Amino acid sequence: MINTLLICGGGGSEHQVSLRTADFIEDQLAKADDIALKRVEMDSSGCLTDKQGRVYHIFYDRKIRDENDNAWDVDYVIPAIHGYPGETGDLQSQLEMFGIPYFGSAPEASKTCFNKIKTKMWLSALGIDNTPYLFLHSLEEKELEKAHAALEKWEAIFVKASNQGSSVGCFKVTRKEELAAAIEKAFTLSPYVLIEKALVARELEVAVYTFEEELIATLPGEVRAPSDTFYTYKEKYAAASRAETFIEAEGLNEEQLAWIHEVSVRAFKALKLKDLSRIDFFLTEQGELYLNEVNTFPGMTPKSMFPKMMENHGHNFAEYLTGLIRTAVPEKNGKP
Ligand code: ATP
Ligand code: MG
Ligand code: MG
Ligand code: MG
Repeated sequence: MINTLLICGGGGSEHQVSLRTADFIEDQLAKADDIALKRVEMDSSGCLTDKQGRVYHIFYDRKIRDENDNAWDVDYVIPAIHGYPGETGDLQSQLEMFGIPYFGSAPEASKTCFNKIKTKMWLSALGIDNTPYLFLHSLEEKELEKAHAALEKWEAIFVKASNQGSSVGCFKVTRKEELAAAIEKAFTLSPYVLIEKALVARELEVAVYTFEEELIATLPGEVRAPSDTFYTYKEKYAAASRAETFIEAEGLNEEQLAWIHEVSVRAFKALKLKDLSRIDFFLTEQGELYLNEVNTFPGMTPKSMFPKMMENHGHNFAEYLTGLIRTAVPEKNGKP
C-alpha cells in the first residue's frame, strides 16, 4: 500500500476552494486499491484534523501521529492547498526536508509563481508578452502617485494583491476616487501590490502537465465572465455564477495556437514547474496575446477547467495521478 496524505484547507483565503479540490482528488483516487488515502484539513494555525476530529502532528520521521501517539507512515503527500502554505511552497519545503515525495511543484517554483510580480519579472526576462504593469511596495504618497498616473494613462486598471488567487484582492478600478481604497485593501492581503493595464480581452486557460514524463500543453479553453464584471471569486465558485466555460476556445488561428503552446511549454520549463499547472492568457480584440499568470496548483472544483481540459486531451485524471504516485514511491509500487 502506498500511504498517501491528502492535505487540504490551509491558512489562506482559498481554504474553502481547497476543500472542494480535495473532494475531487479523493473521489479520483477512490478506486486505486494500492493507495491508502488519508485526508486531513489544515486550519489557519497549521493544525491538521481528520473528518473524525482527530488531531495530527507531522512529519519528523515520515510519519503523522494522532493525539494518542498512533503513528501512520507517509509515503506521498498531495498538498491540495491553493495559496498559503501550499501553492506558496512553504509546505513543500518541509516535505523536501523530510524527504517525502509530493504532488506538484517544488518550493522555489511555487514561490515564484504565487507571487504575481515575480512571475511577471520572469516572463519579461524570458521575452514572454504579459500585460503592462507596475508594482507598489508601500502606501507612501510617491507610490500612490505612480498608481494614479497609471490609471490616467490606461483609463482602467487592475489592482491586485501580489500573493493571492481565486481573484481575492483583485479589483478593477476605473475612477480615481476608488483607487486608494483598492490599493489599501490589496495591501492588507499581500506585501506588494500589482497594477496592470485592464484589457478588453478573451480569457484563455491551458492545462500544462507531465504525463508519463511527457510534457503536455492542452488546447486552450476559455472562460467568459458576464460583461458587467470580471472573473471574480463569485463567478468562479458560487452556485449563482453566470460565467461560462468552454473546454476548447473557438476561432483561434494556427499562429495563435502555436504561440500559446510554445509559451506554455517554455514557461513551464523555465520556471521549473513540476507535474501540473494551469497557465492563463488574454487575447485582445486586436489579436494580441499575453500570458496572464501561472497557477502551480489549479482549482479542481466541479466548475474548474484543469481536469476537464486534461480529459479533453485524452488523459484520465485518476490514471494520471495514480501513475505519478506509483512512480514516486517505486519501492511500494505494485505491493499490497
Ligand atoms: P486564479 O483563480 O486564476 O488563480 P488570480 O486570483 O490569480 O486568479 P488573476 O487571474 O490575475 O487572479 O485575475 C483574476 C481575474 O481578473 C482574471 O481571470 C480576469 O477576469 C481579471 N483580470 C485580471 N487581470 C486583468 C487584466 N489585466 N485585464 C483584464 N482582466 C483582468
Ligand atoms: Mg492565480
Ligand atoms: Mg489560483
Ligand atoms: Mg487567474
